[in-house]
Amino acid sequence: MNLDLSNLKEIGSSISIKKKVSLPAFKNYNQDIETPYLFDLELEIYNTDDYYVLNGSLAGTLIMFCSRCLEKFEYPIDVQIEEELAKKEIENPERINLNEIIMENIILSLPMKYLCSADCRGLCSNCGQNLNTGECDCDNTIIDPRLAKLKEFYKTDDNEE
Ligand SMILES: [Zn+2]
Ligand SMILES: [Zn+2]
Repeated sequence: MNLDLSNLKEIGSSISIKKKVSLPAFKNYNQDIETPYLFDLELEIYNTDDYYVLNGSLAGTLIMFCSRCLEKFEYPIDVQIEEELAKKEIENPERINLNEIIMENIILSLPMKYLCSADCRGLCSNCGQNLNTGECDCDNTIIDPRLAKLKEFYKTDDNEE
């Protein structure tokens, strides 16, 4: 989406934008993020001496893949957008690439790892079964009491982690 600021000539003037926007799918830390829904964009743009100052928010829902169980899940966002565009760096005030600005602000707000829920149980490391949807036949969920003791031992021995 492009922004046309050519009619925002007067220093001190501002315009406000409130609309539904679509954004392209993107990657963050090599993970695919889908954007099938429209986002609510609210933006105030001020014309100051040397800058256009953008201030607003973008709210909506991203589709992410859980880092543990690899399932898709919805991730609501409500991102502040704050940006100063130096006028001397703007090639064409009729066509300012707003997507780029929005995407930058979204990416800054995202965590490195995405979990479908804080207690996602992930996949069985043995057979790949999604443990959120059912148990598998592997015995790695049964903790041998001797192993449990050993685990306890390592915990107290190395509590830096
Ligand atoms: Zn998950
Ligand atoms: Zn299994």
